[in-house]
Amino acid sequence: MSPDPSSFVNILSFEDARHCVEDHATRISAPASEAAELLQSAGHVLAEPVVADRDFPPFPRATRDGFAVLAADLQMLPATLEVIGEIKAGATSALRLEPGQAAAIMTGAPAPTGSDAVVMVEHTTVQGNRVEVSKGVKQGENIVPAGAEARRGAHLVAPGTRIDHAAIAVAASVGMTKLKVFRKPRVAVLATGDELVDIASTPGPSQIRNSNSYSLAAQVHAAGGEAIVLPVAPDEPRRLRELMEQGFTADLLLLSGGVSIGKYDLVEQVLAKFNTEFFFTGVLIQPGKPAVFGRASSGKYFFGLPGNPISTMVTFDLFAKPMIEALAGMSARKLVFPAARLKSAIKTKTGLKRFLPAILSGEFENAEVELAGWQGSGDIATMARANCYIVIPPDREQIGAGELVAVMMR
Ligand code: AMP
Ligand code: MG
Repeated sequence: MSPDPSSFVNILSFEDARHCVEDHATRISAPASEAAELLQSAGHVLAEPVVADRDFPPFPRATRDGFAVLAADLQMLPATLEVIGEIKAGATSALRLEPGQAAAIMTGAPAPTGSDAVVMVEHTTVQGNRVEVSKGVKQGENIVPAGAEARRGAHLVAPGTRIDHAAIAVAASVGMTKLKVFRKPRVAVLATGDELVDIASTPGPSQIRNSNSYSLAAQVHAAGGEAIVLPVAPDEPRRLRELMEQGFTADLLLLSGGVSIGKYDLVEQVLAKFNTEFFFTGVLIQPGKPAVFGRASSGKYFFGLPGNPISTMVTFDLFAKPMIEALAGMSARKLVFPAARLKSAIKTKTGLKRFLPAILSGEFENAEVELAGWQGSGDIATMARANCYIVIPPDREQIGAGELVAVMMR
């Protein structure tokens, strides 16, 4: 039975709403995978483990230019050792060190059999075939033992990892020229509202251009999805339903607008025609209180995001993003807010958790954050200047300058 949206109200705390999305996200099965050239794989999600094809490092690797020695030979200083040869990076050496001997060695070269440390060149003076060492070393110093970083067969990068430069370095080091990656999920973006016109048209006096479809498409892309932007839906049930039907052919449907309690806010009513289950119909946050999350009987999830552009952006980050990441095959990660020092005091009302556009500035260890001074959740120009949100818990009325506040980067 389809729930009656006019009677179904389920407003959750921010944390409960987020956990609700996370719970559903963990139940999503892995998407199909495809092969990608290593250089093209950045930004995709890894579908197979990157496995060590040999020990890392494959030989005991010198980490300094200097002399391979036996640490025990340097107990009395200065010590004079016989130099029996030189080992360059990339060289294979049959040298074997006996007590009293040293071998010149370069960074990245294999330490010779019999040596157990490398003394830095800075602490040595060469005279003919002898080297005088002025500083002792501990056993193992400046040598990374074979296999210390990873053993052959070890999983170096797990499936579900978003591929970045570090993962690419690991894949390159084990000789993977191609990687198996997950297909990107298709995310339909459907903006609703009679006042909206396409960005290429000139709006009438009471019309505005549709910016949400574009901001959402950009956010979908950044989250690892492929956006399919549908035409704007009017506040009229028949056409809205038609466009929703199209939207449900994608892996996820994102709607913007029409989820408040206004007379022409029809999104929930029309969604209900798809035998939907609503998991929440509001969240105790500002901006973004009317956010809706649910699933159609076909199994497709949807979000009804409030139409105010900043509400749309914030609720995307808080709720839609983890779902897109899951659909993209990414392993779940918890949302965590780092802290920064507040530059000037904030006064606010209690009752809602707030995500207020803010500017993180300062330099090096001296981060400070202040409100960007928005004119409400339609103020996209302020949002474009902001680089983060200050997160204010629902029970705080005043936060003093100098206090640590939670920050969400954007
Ligand atoms: P709604 O959530 O439909 O009540 O819309 C809230 C506010 O956001 C209204 O001022 C709308 O004009 C505005 N809005 C809704 N959708 C969009 C959109 N796609 N682009 C820009 N502004 C929008
Ligand atoms: Mg509207």
